[in-house]
Amino acid sequence: MTELKKIDVARVTDKVLDHAQRYFRGEGFIEIKPVMLGRVTDPLDGDPGSAVLKTGTIEYGGQNLSLMQSMILHKQKLIAEGFDRIFILSPNIRLEQPQREKTGRHAFEFVQIDFEIAHAKKEDVFELVEGFLASVSKAVETDCAESLGTRGLKCIKAPFDRYHVKDLEAEFGPDWETIMSEENDQPFWALGLEREFYDDEKNNYDLILPEGYGEVLSGGQRVHETQKVLERMEAHGILETNREYVEFAKQGIVPSAGGGIGVDRLVRYFTGAEHVADVQLFPRIPGRSVEF
Ligand code: AMP
Ligand code: MG
Repeated sequence: MTELKKIDVARVTDKVLDHAQRYFRGEGFIEIKPVMLGRVTDPLDGDPGSAVLKTGTIEYGGQNLSLMQSMILHKQKLIAEGFDRIFILSPNIRLEQPQREKTGRHAFEFVQIDFEIAHAKKEDVFELVEGFLASVSKAVETDCAESLGTRGLKCIKAPFDRYHVKDLEAEFGPDWETIMSEENDQPFWALGLEREFYDDEKNNYDLILPEGYGEVLSGGQRVHETQKVLERMEAHGILETNREYVEFAKQGIVPSAGGGIGVDRLVRYFTGAEHVADVQLFPRIPGRSVEF
């Protein structure tokens, strides 16, 4: 592969973001501006794939505010207020463990195409995301040929295969994601993962990229029954630290489903970059110092 220049990475990223905005608007979504600080943020509890060292916070105006790890709780708040289909190009800060440097796909600052649909089921999300991936890969292939150089991008064909994690673990063991990702040449869905309190235990999903690039999306149908939400928060030991969300849950959560697509990881796949650091113009990689 020819060397990946910053300008090529920037062009592919620009294409992905431009296409995402067009695609999601075309599907009836409205774009919401990102929130970067909150009284609450995604606690990332119970997701073994995202065990951060700690949640970043700043103290300001006598309040302790969390740096946004993901906007899931804010998305749910808007859905409860009557929003129907929303998406955000959402910058997230996650203080990942330094050893995550080795995975090639963890940064401590990254951007998600984060979306949520009121009253949706997982099948609605599958169809939406499959349409997005098929069309964005085509757009990148056609419009960024010069930037991609010799990277031979496989045509993405929807629909994607769906597997239950239980079955994948039985067949491939705990390393199923790596093995399956390396063996496949199309993305696939994995269902029923171990998850944060807000995701339905059965109806949640990861989308795994082929060629060893691994997870690019996590999402789920959200738990909306107040009692169940409180029980799960209690079981995860996060009831006391999320009082604002508890108050919100008591007022009534509107059912929804959604997910977040990691832009940095998607661009890494499209460009064939070895490490996510190679597709960040200002790399923010766990275990490495920040240059600028
Ligand atoms: P999550 O719901 O925590 O899985 O996050 C949603 C998506 O954001 C993931 O599927 C990844 O594509 C992306 N993502 C999560 N953590 C990171 C990270 N540390 N570095 C880069 N992308 C990430
Ligand atoms: Mg995940």
